[in-house]
Formats: sequence, structure tokens, C-alpha cells
Amino acid sequence: MTDSTKRIVLAADIGGTSIRAAVLSVSDSTVSILDSIKFKTKPERGFYSAMDELALNIIDIAKRQQVNLKTTPLGVASAGPISIYEGIYDMSPNLPNWDGFGVSQYLQTKIGSPTVTAHDGAMAVLAESRIGTHKDKLNIIYLTVSTGIGAGLMTNGKLVVGHNSGAGEAGHIIINRGGRSCENGCKGCLEGSSSGSAIADIAQKKLQYAPNSILRKVDRLITAADVVTAAKRNDPLATEIISDVVNNLSSGLASLLALFDPEALILGGGVIEGLAPWWTELLQKTKETALPRYKDSLPIYQTSLSGNAPLIGAAIFANDYK
Ligand SMILES: [Zn+2]
Repeated sequence: MTDSTKRIVLAADIGGTSIRAAVLSVSDSTVSILDSIKFKTKPERGFYSAMDELALNIIDIAKRQQVNLKTTPLGVASAGPISIYEGIYDMSPNLPNWDGFGVSQYLQTKIGSPTVTAHDGAMAVLAESRIGTHKDKLNIIYLTVSTGIGAGLMTNGKLVVGHNSGAGEAGHIIINRGGRSCENGCKGCLEGSSSGSAIADIAQKKLQYAPNSILRKVDRLITAADVVTAAKRNDPLATEIISDVVNNLSSGLASLLALFDPEALILGGGVIEGLAPWWTELLQKTKETALPRYKDSLPIYQTSLSGNAPLIGAAIFANDYK
């Protein structure tokens, strides 16, 4: 395929908070999003309800862009753990009760497009390796810190998938044995202390001991974004929570550097965007924690693909395989 050969591809990105469907134009070196729709996941309503809404949105957007569903491949990136190709959930902490359901077969039957699904972290690293700032590098990690935490791993130019498609579940590396657990119950994991859902829950629980916190003015369940906003305004409770997150994330980053020796460890996701004012502090703490070789400089960067990396990766994946 020459660069001038562009192909229209459908893609979706299923997260714990929202789902996005898009029509993209894909070539060897460029991917552009032509049209997209976003809606709330509301995972508690169950797999079928969420997938039916996704299917309707894909059909809508395909109609809008005059895309032939039968002949256009669909790539899906999803929060995991999830199997590659079929997209069967394996106790995903942020999509509870979706266990055992398969995305590819359901959507393919529903809308007719040849469908492949994979972990959103894996799709994000695929996007970075093809069109991101670090596309010439062979050893890349993409760590997403949003509702949950996950990673995509590429070593020697190849995606690392693992025996159960479970490689890259970096949210569940233990950084504080016995500490707060994620929804899967692994005590002291990175996701249990530093994900968007953890930040929100920790703040909600600590609020009763902080009568003067500005977070008390929030008249609904607190979100991670509320905590970040309050920390920017020097609210003591929010500042303490964000400081813990920065410490814990730096432990996770140091561990990933030691394990993979990447050329680039790329960070993305809503929590990373929110932590922009703490970026220098995050790097400094990581330098203090990591192997001596990282004392002066770290191969850690923010994504150049904003929140689009999993969606773009899913489109590339579908274009490669279908
Ligand atoms: Zn965990």
C-alpha cells in the first residue's frame, strides 16, 4: 500500500466511562478521524445494552459518511483484560459483569462489518508506533491512566500479547503490598491507588474527615477531575491525594522502566492530562526511584495523539487484519 492509498475504516474505543465510535481514513503513515460519536458507557447496564447502543451509533455514523458496513473493517479497542481478536472480557474491573462476553462476534453479527478487538493499551502503542512522535522506535510502552490503568507493550517492533492476551495489565503491578485494591481485589496495585476511579473514591471517603475541603461543594459523586481542580486551588485534601498519586505512579513507572528498558514510555489518559501541573514532579520522583541509569534523563513522554491513541490504533489494527 502506498501512502497515497487511503482506506476508510471504522473504529471504536470502549472505556469504563465513555465509548467512542468513529470513521477514519487510514494510510501507511497517516490516520485521520473523519467523524466520531461519543456516549456514556454506563457499564452497570450490562454488555448487551452498551453494545447495542454502540452498534446503532456505528450504523448512524457509517450512514452519515456513506460507508458500506459490509465491506468496511471495524477495529475495537477496549479496557481489559480482554482477549485479542475476539475481544472476550476476562473479569474487567471497570466493566463488571461483562465477563465472558465477546465484542467482535456480537458487533459483526449486529452490523455486518468484519471486526477485530484488542486491549486499548495495545492499540494505543500500535498507534504510537505507526504515526506518533516515537514511530521510528522499536521498544515502546504506552501507559494509559484513566478510569483504569493499562499498558500496551511493544518490544523489538512486535506487540507483546501474553499467554492469555493479558500482557500489559500494568495497573495491577503491586506498588504497596496490602494497600487499597482495584475492583478486582488485588491489594496495593497501581490501579487501586492511582486510577481515575481510585482518586474519586478515595476523595469521597476522606471527605467526611475534611470539613473545610472545597470538594464539599460538589453536590454529586466526586470525580477525579474534581480532585485535580481542587488540588490546583491548593485544597489540602485534594493536594494530599494527588501527591500520593504522583508518588505511586512514579513507583509504577520506575518498575516498567526496569522491566522493559523502553526507548519511549508514553503516558496518556485523562488522569495524565489532569496531572499536567505535576509533570515535572512526577518525572523527578521517578528519577529518584528508578535505576541509576535514569538519574539524569528519562525516556518518559506525554502522548502526541491526545485521547485518540486507542481509537487510531484500533483502526490501524483493523486495516492490517481485515
Ligand atoms: Zn488491581
